[in-house]
Amino acid sequence: MLDTCNLCERKKEKDSDYCIYHSEAFKIINEKFPLWKDAFGELSWKEYLENLIKNSATGQWIKEVAEGLLKKA
Ligand SMILES: [Zn+2]
Repeated sequence: MLDTCNLCERKKEKDSDYCIYHSEAFKIINEKFPLWKDAFGELSWKEYLENLIKNSATGQWIKEVAEGLLKKA
């Protein structure tokens, strides 16, 4: 279905593959990557996503997006 989010049944946002919740989570994931890289030194995109998924403090929306991205990484 073209009009639904990649990760759930909600309607896709304009210019995004995700619904409003998952697109917000996707934005946060991208914004935080440089900060994590600074904190951890060498950190690949894939390692970053794995860390997000393992981290208990990570919100559910972010985890779902990270898992989706990891499949493609
Ligand atoms: Zn969604």
